Amino acid sequence: GAKDLKTTLEKELTAKDMSGEVKIVETGCHGFCEKGPIMIIYPEGVFYCEVNEKDVKEIVDEHLLKGRTVERLLFKEPMTEEQIPSYQDIDFYKKQQRISLKNCGHIDPESIDEYIAVGGYEAAGKALTLMEPQEIIDELKESGLRGRGGGGFPTGLKWQFARNTESDKKYVICNADEGDPGAFMDRSLLEGDPHGIIEGMMIAAYAIGADEAYVYVRAEYPLAITRLEKAIQDAEEYGLLGENIFDSGFNFKLHIKEGAGAFVCGEETALMNSIEGKRGMPKPRPPYPSVSGLWGKPTNINNVETFANVPYIIKEGAEAFSSIGTESSAGTKVFALTGKINNTGLVEVPMGTTLREVIFEIGGGLDKNKKFKAVQTGGPSGGCLPEEYLNLPIDYDSLLDAGTMMGSGGMVVMDEDSCMVDVARFFLNFTQSESCGKCTPCREGTKRMLEILNRITEGEGREGDIELLEELGDHIKSTSLCGLGKSAPNPVLSTITHFRKEYEAHINHQN
Ligand code: SF4
Repeated sequence: GAKDLKTTLEKELTAKDMSGEVKIVETGCHGFCEKGPIMIIYPEGVFYCEVNEKDVKEIVDEHLLKGRTVERLLFKEPMTEEQIPSYQDIDFYKKQQRISLKNCGHIDPESIDEYIAVGGYEAAGKALTLMEPQEIIDELKESGLRGRGGGGFPTGLKWQFARNTESDKKYVICNADEGDPGAFMDRSLLEGDPHGIIEGMMIAAYAIGADEAYVYVRAEYPLAITRLEKAIQDAEEYGLLGENIFDSGFNFKLHIKEGAGAFVCGEETALMNSIEGKRGMPKPRPPYPSVSGLWGKPTNINNVETFANVPYIIKEGAEAFSSIGTESSAGTKVFALTGKINNTGLVEVPMGTTLREVIFEIGGGLDKNKKFKAVQTGGPSGGCLPEEYLNLPIDYDSLLDAGTMMGSGGMVVMDEDSCMVDVARFFLNFTQSESCGKCTPCREGTKRMLEILNRITEGEGREGDIELLEELGDHIKSTSLCGLGKSAPNPVLSTITHFRKEYEAHINHQN
């Protein structure tokens, strides 16, 4: 409803002859989706939630003309006048630390001037004019940044591999093929801060010796594509894309490739096949993309959020970044918080923040005061963790040790009413239908697992089904060609580990 709200506000300001005095800035997502549309009035910074068209007149008459806060639109009723909540006073934001999302909700993503005004392209200027490519890679390695797309591979090392491969042509790719159900991290970053991604990609290209790049983005994200197109056009006009950028002799061309919605195209080799116009199917590795990638040339692929962190590291230094988070997982991570939770939305927290802090302090606890049952992290390939894991610090390794994974940042909360067998079936149904069919364990195995899950939930489970699921799951994980198959059984295996009794109850007709 934000678009209509803006139009109504423009009309109201014109009617009151105030359009010259009040500037309306359309921003990207604030992250607090549960309470949208959000309107913040500056300079006071008063944060209005769930604003609709009917509220506009009151905001203009009361707030803008008389300087009185419209209390019913505040996140919380103020106790005293001094406690009128602004951004920083709201629990949802208090524990967050925004690095990659820092401009989302703050600047107009369609204005390159606003991006530059908040320090945008300074990191690229520093990198291209004051740093050698190897220095940039060393800085990245020292920062401890790991791939935010799911794998968690050290970014500096990945760049090093691509830099070390001799070639007359190299490519950089931004993987924005976000396909996890319930995930919208990449989308919000592209919609809210497209120049941040371009800047991160430019620095990567300079560091590895590439002069051309692609953003592979889902066609289902039309606003992200429009804003990215506008950002590319503006950056070209400002001489920030094209030839001899910052008089450094560095040339950089950027294209957008729209994906057609296949989940498997998020896998690096399938993604490159798709850019080349071939069917989006994974290829065995090696050779790795850093040696032979797009059109056989060395290619570096990173996820949107990974690139969004790069300008900060170059500008503030590796130490500033590595001082945030944990020893093995530096920096912050963006999560799409969804499910049976009060404050659904997009959150960015330092690595090491516990699940409890994210779910109960930032997320505001469970909807309708229900009891917490489990949290699923890592998208359809992740696992479900029960209550005993709420104090688990979120980082790559602790999540893996617990039987799930970071993934790209999906976090789905389940309450006491959720059936964990159904949850497992939902995710497996998704990965099974997205299996590209190239290799047998994934193509056939996930189908067989789904059949078993279907009969269990339909009350026709048999003795030995749980063991069969475990056996099949282990085989699929160890023999599938790509990450999709290797991780598809995770939701089933983790729910069997932590909620075996629910499976047994279904089979024994107790449920
Ligand atoms: Fe395709 Fe699945 Fe094999 Fe990956 S694991 S190549 S998605 S069949």
